[in-house]
Formats: sequence, structure tokens, C-alpha cells
Amino acid sequence: MSDSLIIVVSGPGGVGKSTIVEELVKRDPRLWLSRSWTTRERRPGEAIDAYNFVTREQFQQRIDANGFLEWTEFIGNMYGTPNPEPPLGRDIVLEIEVDGAQQVKLQHPEAVLLFVLPPSREEQKARLHGRGDADNKVEQRLKKAEEEEPVGKALADYVLINDDLGQTIHDMLALIVARREKQS
Ligand code: 5GP
Repeated sequence: MSDSLIIVVSGPGGVGKSTIVEELVKRDPRLWLSRSWTTRERRPGEAIDAYNFVTREQFQQRIDANGFLEWTEFIGNMYGTPNPEPPLGRDIVLEIEVDGAQQVKLQHPEAVLLFVLPPSREEQKARLHGRGDADNKVEQRLKKAEEEEPVGKALADYVLINDDLGQTIHDMLALIVARREKQS
């Protein structure tokens, strides 16, 4: 992974990160999306490969074996990025929350951190409800989002407001290309 660019997409829950990264990897074949591990239960209708869904024991074993680039506990569940092994010549995309983004930036200061914000709290709330989270979970996630925002903004290389998905993706792809050119 030594020559790979690391692109971290972070931002509060309900901002559309998953849709964004899905589109990024579809449109830029050089991008390679890391699949995270989580101890969270799969949501109804959620893709089976959205995560590697594991038990706490399995997660802990991987921590003990130094198998994660970063990991954290987020609202009662563990989430972690396995040490990335992208195919040669590919750039790594991580879709993670702020604490993980901070850990990645510490180890890899050259990583590009794209921090995405929702256009409004209302929109964010609607997206969280829309994906089937229970009301109390939505409240927890909104509270967490308020804590995450200032930290993420301070840490970010670029802050983007996702009010138009197409524009957000267009801007991100341009930033990635620009960073590659700078690197080569
Ligand atoms: P969700 O439960 O909504 O899928 O994810 C909760 C939060 O964890 C989201 O902000 C998501 O981006 C983040 N997340 C997903 N995978 C990872 C990971 O591997 N590491 C970290 N630190 N956060 C992750």
C-alpha cells in the first residue's frame, strides 16, 4: 500500500457517505474501497457485504493481532478498517467516522481527508429515519453528529456540503485527481 493514496471520507451519520463512496469507486476505477469490520447487526435490507459483520470476540482477536489500521467504538458497536491490502496501483478509500479518521491522519499525514456535512439537520434526520434506524437510534446518532462536526472540520483537508450528490461526487473526484497529480 506504500504508493497508494489514502482517501478518507468522513462525516456525521446520515450525510450520504455510503452513497458517495459507492459512486466514487464506480466512476474512478483506480479507487479501491476498504471493507470495514463491525460488531453491529445488519440492518434489514442492508447489503450482506456492506461490512464484514463479526462477533465481539472476532473483533477483539483482530485487535490483538494488530490487524486494524484503525478501530473505534461508535454508539455501542465496534468498527474497524483492516490493514489495507489494495491491488497494485490502486488508491484506498475509507468511509469512516471522525475518531478513525483522526487515527489514520496521525499515522498517514499525507492521507486526504474529505469531510462531508449535511445541508441541514432536517435533511440528515430524514435520511437517518429513511434507512430504518429506530427513533432512539436516530437521536443518538444526531447527538453524536453534533460532537463529530467540529472535530472533523478541524481535521479535514476539505469540507464539502452534500446538498447536491452529483456535485459532491464531481468535486471529490476532481480533488482526488488533483492530489494524484501533485503526488506524481
Ligand atoms: P453505520 O452503523 O451507520 O454503518 O456506521 C456508523 C459510523 O461508523 C459511520 O460514521 C461510518 O462511517 C463509521 N464506520 C464505518 N466503518 C468504519 C471503520 O472501519 N472505522 C471507523 N472508525 N468508523 C467506521
